Amino acid sequence: MKLSIKAFMLLLYAIIVLFFTSISVYMYISQRDKMVDLIASDVQKNLLEVSYYASKVIDNVNNVSVVKPMIDRRIASNEIVDRFLIFHNEKLLFNSSLVNSDISGKNGISGNLKNISFYDLLHKQGFATNIYIYQQDQQIRLNLVLILNHKLLQQNFSDLKINFLVIYCVIFIFVYLFLWKLIDKYLIYTLEKLRQYAYYNSSIPPVMMIKELEYIRSSMLQTFTRLEVEKEKLYKASITDELSGLSNKNHLEERLGRLISRSRRDKKEFAFVFMDIDHFKDVNDLLGHSVGDKLLVDISKKLPDVVRTNDIVARIGGDEFALVLSEYSSHIELTMILERILDMVDSEWHVEGHKVKISASMGVSLYPRDGENIENLLKNSDIALFEAKNKGRARYNFFTQELNEKIITEIETNNQMREALKHGEFELYYQPKVDILSSKIIGAEALIRWNSPTKGLVPPNSFIPIAENSGFIVELGEWIFKTAFNQQLEWSQQSYLKDLVLSVNLSVKQIANDKFIDTFQTIFTNSGADSRYLEIELTESVFINSAGQALEVVNLFRSLGFMISLDDFGTGYSSLSYLKKLPFDIIKIDKTFIDDYNSISGKVYIDTIIKMGHSLGMKLVAEGVETQEQLEFLKELECNIFQGYLCSKPLPVKQFEELVLKTNS
Ligand code: C2E
Ligand code: CA
Ligand code: CA
Repeated sequence: MKLSIKAFMLLLYAIIVLFFTSISVYMYISQRDKMVDLIASDVQKNLLEVSYYASKVIDNVNNVSVVKPMIDRRIASNEIVDRFLIFHNEKLLFNSSLVNSDISGKNGISGNLKNISFYDLLHKQGFATNIYIYQQDQQIRLNLVLILNHKLLQQNFSDLKINFLVIYCVIFIFVYLFLWKLIDKYLIYTLEKLRQYAYYNSSIPPVMMIKELEYIRSSMLQTFTRLEVEKEKLYKASITDELSGLSNKNHLEERLGRLISRSRRDKKEFAFVFMDIDHFKDVNDLLGHSVGDKLLVDISKKLPDVVRTNDIVARIGGDEFALVLSEYSSHIELTMILERILDMVDSEWHVEGHKVKISASMGVSLYPRDGENIENLLKNSDIALFEAKNKGRARYNFFTQELNEKIITEIETNNQMREALKHGEFELYYQPKVDILSSKIIGAEALIRWNSPTKGLVPPNSFIPIAENSGFIVELGEWIFKTAFNQQLEWSQQSYLKDLVLSVNLSVKQIANDKFIDTFQTIFTNSGADSRYLEIELTESVFINSAGQALEVVNLFRSLGFMISLDDFGTGYSSLSYLKKLPFDIIKIDKTFIDDYNSISGKVYIDTIIKMGHSLGMKLVAEGVETQEQLEFLKELECNIFQGYLCSKPLPVKQFEELVLKTNS
């Protein structure tokens, strides 16, 4: 059993009180017994003297009353004696008082006065002795009874009791109280304070009266102060990002949690911004990690300056920052803050002697519209950020529900595509390329189709971009090359198909893969196809987004003997400059120009492209030709090849082969 300090002290105190009380009670009893003895000896003396006197003066049973004067004197001088009675053979002969005495037998009378108890003294009616008289020489025995004044006796004893009680109560109780106060104040209170301090480490207890307690207190104080400092340090480390000194993810979540409850109560909106430095990896790769780190530190230092004091700025990983903006009165104001942040980052930074030009992308989700908890706000701002990057970086983008749905479908489609590849649901269709002069089919473009058992025939525009985003295009692209190369090999064994040039589309995301060159080479070598009848279609985005790699890849195709065509020509911005720099064999004029052939400017564009291509020694393919008029027009401008619904839509391989047989013979 364990006791609290207070309970233990109370127990100790109770034992002390009990001890002193026992002593007092003992003293009271011995005092009372002394008084009993005194009274008893007085009674004895009285009885003896009266009996002696009576035996002298009484000579006859009938003149007992001769003792009356003497007895009266005695009674008058002795308060505790109430009256004397004299009996002879149970018959009352004398009564000193007028009060009728009915002595209830011998029981009420005691003859023995030695060691008489307090109880007997108070409860016996009287005390007796014998008187011997001689009447005619005959000894007669009379009984002398002394009746005590019980009222007075009781009064005396209760006075004694009261005296004791008064002394005990007044003195001892005050002493006890005083003692308890001392114990309470200097022991219980101080020990309790120490215990509380050790437990809660709350307010520092004052200096203590008792030396040992004071030692304990001051050493505890030192320990706890040290612990407090350590705790503070640890807490600080747990909430700050070591590199930048900004809040870390833990602290962000902690503060965001508080902001959410506050905003819920006040029905206020705030913006959660997920920011990421564009192409930060390049800075690290090209200039080294120390420059990258320094750049992050510099940005971190400036970030708090462009937001309001109460806004949260945190670094949550690598080049990722989270900003929580809550002090804006309109969305216009919010976008102004976002612009300010973009401007701050989007400048030339001088880091360790290097000039670095960077920009940032931001995804914004709003509380409570886009998420009512940390998780959803983070997820949705991340989705918005992803979209901002897709839109070309160096910008902010707000989360919308449509965006969310788009992402969800993307994730689903992506999973389904992986399954589809395993189950052989993809198929290459072939769209004829027709020589304008001879009207013969001279080649085909391989265009992928997805025969989904649930979605039906899915066109590439609704899954290729998704596959590009997720990286699945790498795997899918390998399948496309294998299938197309096999097809070319098969055609090479058929006399009416062996001269067809098969072109395959290649997207920028495929080239971005490190292993592309090796994989491509392996697939090609293993296929046994003839590269003289193979063509790769590239769009100019390839050269914009992966400048270095693209050149390497183009050189590879060249060295392997492939033909290269520039797809969708005219839709980008800088096609002309690429035309000069890169060795294309073919230019594919985009369908938008062909659609516009009727307008004056459309005519001029097509004419210019064709003339320029020819002067650079390239062949020209017109895409999306749907009408005879378009074809006539292209023939006039000496365009070489056309592709379009006018001849045929992309066809499954068997139908395509039949079409070639029919058209070319
Ligand atoms: P693209 O490379 O420009 O392909 C030409 C697109 O124009 C094809 O659409 C074709 O069906 C369509 N087309 C051809 N003639 C006409 C016409 O007269 N009128 C109209 N309205 N359209 C015509 P498709 O097959 O839906 O492919 C769309 C895009 O998907 C392709 O554009 C290409 O960028 C991509 N793609 C298709 N197959 C592959 C592939 O195997 N690999 C890669 N990386 N991308 C592919
Ligand atoms: Ca193409
Ligand atoms: Ca095209």
